[in-house]
Amino acid sequence: MPQILVSEVGPRDGLQSIAAVMPTPAKLRWIGALAAAGLREIEVCSFVPPKLLPQMADAAEVVAGACRLSGLAVAALAPNLRGARAAFEAGAAKVTLPVSVSEAHSLANVRKTHAQMRDEVAAVVALRNAEFPSVKLEAGLSTAFGCTLAGQVPEADTLRLAAAMAQLGVDEVGLSDTTGYANPAQVKRLFKALRAELGERAGGAHFHNTRGQGLANVVAALEADVNTFDASQGGLGGCPYAPGATGNIVTEDLVFLLESMGLDTGIDINGLLAARAALREGLPGEPLYGHVPDAGLPNGFAYAREAA
Ligand code: ZN
Repeated sequence: MPQILVSEVGPRDGLQSIAAVMPTPAKLRWIGALAAAGLREIEVCSFVPPKLLPQMADAAEVVAGACRLSGLAVAALAPNLRGARAAFEAGAAKVTLPVSVSEAHSLANVRKTHAQMRDEVAAVVALRNAEFPSVKLEAGLSTAFGCTLAGQVPEADTLRLAAAMAQLGVDEVGLSDTTGYANPAQVKRLFKALRAELGERAGGAHFHNTRGQGLANVVAALEADVNTFDASQGGLGGCPYAPGATGNIVTEDLVFLLESMGLDTGIDINGLLAARAALREGLPGEPLYGHVPDAGLPNGFAYAREAA
């Protein structure tokens, strides 16, 4: 069993941040190529009103298609009860609820106060428990490391919200650096505190590479025993109105980092490079990032599983 779970979020976080709409069959070809490279969990879409995000109008179809791939845990994002119900009904194995630590971000992102969001999460947990008991629920704490609207986010606020989410009955609570504000010292401190507070319910890390700190933050999180990392192929994402803004940490570079440190991911880097072709085909002209895809694997590179 691989030691580290790399959760691909490109089809959700990447696609929702760019203007172009990828056709459904192209999404499914891309997701299939990612699964063939050895990714065991892919967040394939978010269940939001198509008026807000036309890129996600085919969410149910994409979940159903991805569920036909064997061995893949199909994950989806849902900001509210309505979205969560649609995700459960479509067959998602895991649903992530984005919960902002910064209330200003919560109001801007999901138009809800903290109290309203708590009620929403409680309702989602109740629905899951009653009708979809096999689905795993994660609260993804966005702006956990800082917020473009509120600036610094006190660590005590993040930990208090994490504890509240665990108490409501989600299976795990992850921390997201939505804004690319995190630094490695903060990451290590906060994930250690999260584990002390939540034990087994402490979840994974979701980093954006906006300021180039993404992989340094991964190493810091590893030192705090984090074993699940979100990433997007080619660092897909950013913002159509902010040239140069990149998205999540790059899956290809993350897998290379982990494998060269001796941590087994179960993922084949050449398979990931092949999946880029499927992505390019579905989204011609979209910039893709990544140092390993540009430079190639070093001479003599060995996977952790080969060295073991
Ligand atoms: Zn994100």
